[in-house]
Amino acid sequence: VTQTLTLYVLDAAALFSQWTLQNPDGSLLTTPSVLNELVNRPSQERAQHLISIDRLRIETPGPKHVKAVKKAAEHTGDLGVLSTIDIELIALALQEKGLNKEVTIVSTDLSVLNTAALLGIGILDPRKRMKHLVRWRLKCPACDHEEDFVAVHMECPVCGTEMKRKASDKRNAR
Ligand SMILES: [Zn+2]
Repeated sequence: VTQTLTLYVLDAAALFSQWTLQNPDGSLLTTPSVLNELVNRPSQERAQHLISIDRLRIETPGPKHVKAVKKAAEHTGDLGVLSTIDIELIALALQEKGLNKEVTIVSTDLSVLNTAALLGIGILDPRKRMKHLVRWRLKCPACDHEEDFVAVHMECPVCGTEMKRKASDKRNAR
């Protein structure tokens, strides 16, 4: 069994809350625009401290991943309610996931969580005290063939039927 350290991608609400203090393990990541959203001094100071001890990294996602997130959000119907900042944050999580990292997005925004889940990203809602991280897989309704989640629309490589999402790998959240 390979032990992978989870990378947590945080929105402004997560950085604003005490979540980072209550969860001392795992590395943290966010975007420059989320950092700019922190208008209150205690959360700014907490974020700066996390950056200074190398626990929080700030990165901007590439356009390819932004496009992929918009496409997924269009499919779920979340695109109309997601801000540019939200889309960038999910795109950053998707980009890191593409580097074979174990990524969980921490957000209180249901559209952010929903879109992230659709893209196979782990989700955690600190305010709702979500008990499980849900990861998605694809399963063929005709022949039961399973695949890692790569896209919303994918034909079964065995029989050609359109595959469906299924929740898998439910683990206890912190
Ligand atoms: Zn099939």
